[in-house]
Amino acid sequence: MFTLKLATNSSGARAGIFILLLTIILPFHQAYSARAAAGAGNANKPLEPIPAKLVVLTFDDSVRSHFDIARPILKKHGFSATFFITEGWDFRTNKQHYLSWKQIAQLHRDGFEIGNHTRDHLAIRDETVARLDEQLAGIETRCREHGIPSPITFAWPGNAFTTNAFDILRRHGIQFARRGGAPEFPYELGRGIAMEPGRDHPLLLPSAGDARPFWKLKDFVLAASQAKAGRPAILQFHGVPDIAHPWVSSMKEKFAAYMQYLADHDYQVIALRDLGRYVSPNVEPADSMAIIRTRQIRLKADPP
Ligand SMILES: [Zn+2]
Repeated sequence: MFTLKLATNSSGARAGIFILLLTIILPFHQAYSARAAAGAGNANKPLEPIPAKLVVLTFDDSVRSHFDIARPILKKHGFSATFFITEGWDFRTNKQHYLSWKQIAQLHRDGFEIGNHTRDHLAIRDETVARLDEQLAGIETRCREHGIPSPITFAWPGNAFTTNAFDILRRHGIQFARRGGAPEFPYELGRGIAMEPGRDHPLLLPSAGDARPFWKLKDFVLAASQAKAGRPAILQFHGVPDIAHPWVSSMKEKFAAYMQYLADHDYQVIALRDLGRYVSPNVEPADSMAIIRTRQIRLKADPP
């Protein structure tokens, strides 16, 4: 009896020690895993909790009014932003409607982020993905020539995307990529949804709104106010105004009112690269399209 009792006690003690060891080792292991996932850009810095009213501001297509109109308004409010640069359309010759590289370099020196939007504004699909490498390199070369760091964020041109581009984007050091509100929402209205970290792939982050010429303040508020704790809202703009792309233009006065709204309501306005403080670029969902399909089913059952 005594022997049996001793054996029971002894195995209980062994289990106790095992559990004790686990409670000591596990937190270290978890902390290490979180650090490993945080990525090179945020080495050894733990992620911060995502606050409410966190807005990522993005501007596409290298439009001249980004410098003349948006820049002073953003500086007045102390807002950051990402400018997604392409040399598409007649960028090289039409300096009335498009930024010069000198202006783009100044935006960088001002502290804004310069992101990659492909050299030729090429829609990246399975049929064109073989050209993505040269398209990214074209912008990287110009950045290097003008003292701008190689972009670590990307915006998919023309509302197209393919998951077959992910490896190429990663090889070029792209941490986050932004798409439009589609395919969950139709392109025309510029509607979208706030990103869901961990469920949205870091290279397929949705726009919560993509400003349209017919937008009123309430449309902008609908997009921005989706920014809740844990759900940053990425906002997409083109020119303010955009003479060369009138279907996505925002008039100066409207844009100024939108930015004033963000300032008056204590929004924190950051560039896409700054998302790395809150969201790991290396945590990817097992199925990058799953959240998109889930939303499509939900929106079909309950249209907005
Ligand atoms: Zn574009």
